[in-house]
Amino acid sequence: MAMTKDYYEILGVQRDASIDEIKKAYRNLAKKYHPDINKEPGAADKFKEISEAYAVLSDEEKRKKYDMYGEEGMRGYSTEDIFRGADFSDIFRDLGLDDIISNLFGFGFGSRGRGGNLFEDLFNQGYSGGSSRARQRRGADLIYHLDLDLKDAAFGTEKEITVQKNELCPECNGTKTKAGASPQVCPKCNGTGQVQNVRRTAYGQIVNIITCPDCGGSGNIVTDPCPTCRGKGKMVRTKTIRIKIPPGVDNGVRLKVSREGEAGDGPGLEGDLYIVIHVKDDEFFKREGDDLYCEVPVSFGQLALGDKIEVPTLDGKKAELKIPPGTQSHTTFVLKGLGVPRFDTRTQKSNLKDRGDMYVKVKVKIPKKLTQKEKELIEEFDSAVSKNKKQLFGKIFK
Ligand SMILES: [Zn+2]
Ligand SMILES: [Zn+2]
Repeated sequence: MAMTKDYYEILGVQRDASIDEIKKAYRNLAKKYHPDINKEPGAADKFKEISEAYAVLSDEEKRKKYDMYGEEGMRGYSTEDIFRGADFSDIFRDLGLDDIISNLFGFGFGSRGRGGNLFEDLFNQGYSGGSSRARQRRGADLIYHLDLDLKDAAFGTEKEITVQKNELCPECNGTKTKAGASPQVCPKCNGTGQVQNVRRTAYGQIVNIITCPDCGGSGNIVTDPCPTCRGKGKMVRTKTIRIKIPPGVDNGVRLKVSREGEAGDGPGLEGDLYIVIHVKDDEFFKREGDDLYCEVPVSFGQLALGDKIEVPTLDGKKAELKIPPGTQSHTTFVLKGLGVPRFDTRTQKSNLKDRGDMYVKVKVKIPKKLTQKEKELIEEFDSAVSKNKKQLFGKIFK
């Protein structure tokens, strides 16, 4: 998905921008692209874009969601949801554009004399007209934190997890109504799930569309509630879900399990379940990206004279490591392709052929206890070496 919307880029602010900076950036852009000011083709589109970005980034909760999941995180929001709670009125008032406020916030109502509602025109959503049916809401996404051993994260595994979540009532399947009875159309909102709320202010009449208080937005009144869920349509249930962990996942990777989140207002409207991976520390291996690092103790003799040793690999097998004579302690050797398989977080796919490397550091282990014989041999060796050294110094400094 190369065409994701970057709200930060659209407003030209840093990702850690404060709410004041975001507001300022939006103000400046609104001054440029507001349809009352800018009549150039494309300006309205641009205005729509910046307004959406501002609506999301100025709302702490929506911004958090967007930061975590990007555009995907906004999937559960309708355009109306995105704009709900965003404070445009202050900004337009400051800019001397107060005559458009009621249009902006009218969402299809009360915009007499202006030829329609601005946002409705811009977004072409039609979520307001009396003919539209009540919107069915999608269920919330769920997040599950999963601890994994390094080996399981590297080579993949299957896990069973247990989540508690709202599911549609098996009896009424979310309709909230007793079998055989049918829900009544809400008389207050005529089944639209929304009612107008008119406020008078110094700037004129402001019309808000609010969720119908009688039916809670469903458009229906349940007169004969389902006995199993007592008219709620949903029930909290514990569900065990088997999930496949692909090879190569690392800390912070989110795996999406579609439609295993909370139930929505009806069948097929479940949210998604996100599995967040936490990889436990390993005793022997350290992981950096797709590479593995480890340390192997060796003797002075193995380094001085050279040797072939076996080193453990993450998959439980052994690899051969050739130490050439005269190797210094703390030297690192690379064993190509013995690291972790590559996992692409965007496509959520692993590539078993593309593996990182394994870095082995050899470290001399000094024995703590020595026999008399060993001591003598070391002393003998040491004096021979220091004699050589003296001769070497002699050569250099004479
Ligand atoms: Zn039920
Ligand atoms: Zn209603």
